[in-house]
Amino acid sequence: MKTRKSLFEFFLLFCFFFCMSYPCIAQDYDILIKNARVFDGSNKPEFRSDVAIKDDIIVKVAKSIIGNAKKTIDAGGLHISPGFIDMHTHADIGMRHLENRPCLNFLKQGVTTIVAGQCGSSAWPIFENAENQIKRWTDEGIGPNVALLVGHGQVREIVMGREEDREPSSEELEKMKTLVKEAMQQGAYGISTGLEYTPGFYGKTEEVIELVKVVAPYNGVYHSHVRYESHAIDDKLKLIEAIEEAVKIAEQTGVPTNISHLKVSGKRNWGLARELCAVIEEARDNNVKITADQYPFRFGGGHPYFPLIPRSAWIGKENNGGLSSSDIEEIFDHLRDSKLIDLYKKTHTRNIPITEQHEQYLNNLPRKRLVQLVSQSVVNLSNLQGSVNARERMLFLKRMENSEEAENIRKKVVEYINESAASGNAGPENCYITHCSDKNLEGKTLKEIAEIKGKSIADAAIELDLMGARGTNKQYGEDDIEYIMKKNYVATGSDGIAPFYGIGLTHIRSYSTFLQKIKKYAMERKTVSIPHVIRSQTSLPAQIMNFDDRGWIREGYKADIVVLDLKNIDNRASISNPHQYCTGVEYLLVNGTLILDKGEWTGALPGRVLKPKKP
Ligand SMILES: [Zn+2]
Repeated sequence: MKTRKSLFEFFLLFCFFFCMSYPCIAQDYDILIKNARVFDGSNKPEFRSDVAIKDDIIVKVAKSIIGNAKKTIDAGGLHISPGFIDMHTHADIGMRHLENRPCLNFLKQGVTTIVAGQCGSSAWPIFENAENQIKRWTDEGIGPNVALLVGHGQVREIVMGREEDREPSSEELEKMKTLVKEAMQQGAYGISTGLEYTPGFYGKTEEVIELVKVVAPYNGVYHSHVRYESHAIDDKLKLIEAIEEAVKIAEQTGVPTNISHLKVSGKRNWGLARELCAVIEEARDNNVKITADQYPFRFGGGHPYFPLIPRSAWIGKENNGGLSSSDIEEIFDHLRDSKLIDLYKKTHTRNIPITEQHEQYLNNLPRKRLVQLVSQSVVNLSNLQGSVNARERMLFLKRMENSEEAENIRKKVVEYINESAASGNAGPENCYITHCSDKNLEGKTLKEIAEIKGKSIADAAIELDLMGARGTNKQYGEDDIEYIMKKNYVATGSDGIAPFYGIGLTHIRSYSTFLQKIKKYAMERKTVSIPHVIRSQTSLPAQIMNFDDRGWIREGYKADIVVLDLKNIDNRASISNPHQYCTGVEYLLVNGTLILDKGEWTGALPGRVLKPKKP
């Protein structure tokens, strides 16, 4: 009897200490999402489920989960999906500044992971070594997760300079390979090229193959902004050739290759998506590892806001007239390096202090490049030219008084609107006025405005330009966008940036890519199903990038989750007013931490710089 009593006392004592060491009601989960309709990352239809999260992991996905949680989200009437993965961004540039680290423009679209360092241009390895950048972002916190690529253009610039239109010597090639290798060792996911830009364009296929081969032993990937992408508006064959080059690189290196922002520029090329996709599909049928990404807009990024009168018609001669960029560079060339750097500091990105590494980078630049950079930073040439320049304006109006001269100007304006690269040769019906002193005209096409005013296209364009208006154009055809979107190997990539909120002109893709694709193309136009869109921005990019623990609502996966209110999606960013956050994301979890709560930022910065698994 005595023994039984002491056993009972011992049991009570045990219970007491157990309760002391744990809170009385132990929490089973950190976050419990109840009653959700789940898109799991596949292209299968939604299903009803609860989802439980502990730490940064999805620990349970089941019809009904009973248990305690620190926070319960009732997702009745809402949908959940794996957090969106943005395959293609240039966010690393803006994220150098502390105030842009949250990347709210991405979070508000439901994006939880971004891939940065695209189009051959990365912070790596020029601005600072990657380890410093990664450490700083890790210590100070970032909004979404980031996966970084090393840019071919940067590597080439550091070894060969920016203007070298030639093949590298074998020694230079070895140096470039070493830089790529170092980046891979420091945690890059792969390499990107911008074969249409300086200096990437100077790199021939063989050079790219040699550098892409370096990432193979690290299970790296290759992202290609292909050659001639936007500069082939008059030459279909060049566009096809550019895709074939990407296929060749994929074939010869065995490295999974992704074609960035796949699209067809220039109205005369519209319809070409079928041929471009056929090249990709033939390669895929032959087991070449090749995929693509896309942003769902008809507006391009290259010449987003152009004047409506071409320069030659404005000044009345073929050469530039007035100040050219080399004139301005010449003025700055008389200054000492230290003065140049001082001026750069004062004018660069609205006086935000530059980092020590950035200053070191400026100090190490070739003199010519430094002068170029500083003169561009200090003097915005477009502010000295065009209708804002009183003298140029007066001379232009004088020329318009001469009827023969005026006819000539009108002809040039029409040609420019219909034929030029700036206009994507898309014509007045695709030329949209983005900014104008008459706000009522913003968002209308040049054709519409000409009709309203009862004027010819040329006269309407001239009048608008004199009012300081700027235009942009729908240079991609809807049919091509939809054709590409339907492909099961095409992921979503915004090509967006981490902008200073509210400042400057920017493409709306930075603000509304992911919800635009769901709302416009799945819910309204029904081009594709919602699960198809979800897959293209979750499990497909995860697969392409080798993120093996993200992109799915599945037990054991990282808790990157977006809770969507489909009926309240509003993509508010517009071409005239691009700095507008989307609505429709009710909650957002990054690595199991609530970062958007009822649509608002919680202040958390739980993103991580992702590191690839060692092969
Ligand atoms: Zn690009």
